[in-house]
Amino acid sequence: MEHLQKELAQAGVRTEKNFPLCRHSTFRIGGCARLALFPKTREELLYCLAALKQSELRFLVIGNASNVVFSDDGFDGAVLFTTAFRSLEHRGNRLQVGAGVPLHAVASLAERASLGGAEFLHGIPGTLGGAIFMNAGAFGGCMADICESSEYFDMCTGKVATLYGREQEFANRTSFYQKHPNCIVLGATLVLREGNREEICRLMRDYMERRRRTQPLEYPSAGSVFKRPEGYFAGKLIEDCGLKGTRVGGAEVSVKHAGFIVNRGGATAKDVRCLVALIQERVLKETGVSLECEIRFL
Ligand SMILES: Cc1cc2nc3c(=O)[nH]c(=O)nc-3n(C[C@H](O)[C@H](O)[C@H](O)COP(=O)(O)OP(=O)(O)OC[C@H]3O[C@@H](n4cnc5c(N)ncnc54)[C@H](O)[C@@H]3O)c2cc1C
Repeated sequence: MEHLQKELAQAGVRTEKNFPLCRHSTFRIGGCARLALFPKTREELLYCLAALKQSELRFLVIGNASNVVFSDDGFDGAVLFTTAFRSLEHRGNRLQVGAGVPLHAVASLAERASLGGAEFLHGIPGTLGGAIFMNAGAFGGCMADICESSEYFDMCTGKVATLYGREQEFANRTSFYQKHPNCIVLGATLVLREGNREEICRLMRDYMERRRRTQPLEYPSAGSVFKRPEGYFAGKLIEDCGLKGTRVGGAEVSVKHAGFIVNRGGATAKDVRCLVALIQERVLKETGVSLECEIRFL
């Protein structure tokens, strides 16, 4: 680990030892990572990935940690955060987006360029890499609709490659990358359509207003806990089972939106796991529907 840190520092990559993961996660949960890496450019990102491959250390690649629950015991390895790698360019109706670019920045650039199709990203607190991995979506749109291609580094072969269109295997909150955790997203090309800036702006404001009205944005969380089961809404099923406000330790089923678990102070990953199991058991027993987790326990 010392050797890796030295090597990365020499290459100009910012690193931090014993990094508190709770500080970086939107859920405010998690112990310490032995080492955290913050590459700023594509070159630094590739350098880090190649160094991790060679070191054979355990590692995680994380964007804004807005869909994950880090372990209370932390992570005995290296966590690479992509959030400092923010290259974002616009050519015609295409955007070239680096893995760590926040989704709100993508939506804003599209709006300034009068390009429609990315409005749904406004208000999702993730990065481009996390959004591709999860096929993030909202208000009827998702990454599958706009992601023309994505480029990745293969930790097994050490090579960079590109997936086009359907090769990315986007489906309900999943993608090729979930089945191939050795493939790390470096960036993507998004294809949008010419639109009317005022209309784009209006849609973005409307989506944000709907979020503020219906989601518990005042508390730390990782967004919707469960994937949408076919033919149902997870939040409605949970609410109908009378689970709103149910607590395990500091974790609570939001009273504002039953599809969210919020951290009411001092919640641990163990609290969240127990509450998730309680919800799944009760919903299955009372409705026959099996809820699948969208959030990822690491
Ligand atoms: C308040 C709130 C509202 C939300 N609303 C929505 C919503 O409307 N729609 C929605 O879909 N989601 C929503 N989310 C969840 C979350 O924001 C999205 O899933 C987002 O796309 C995750 O991006 P991230 O960068 O935070 O990923 P992270 O949480 O950092 O990572 C998620 C997974 O992706 C992997 N990953 C991250 N970057 C890479 C990379 N470069 N290469 C390979 N793997 C990578 C990680 O290893 C991890 O397994 C919400 C979350 C919150 C807190």
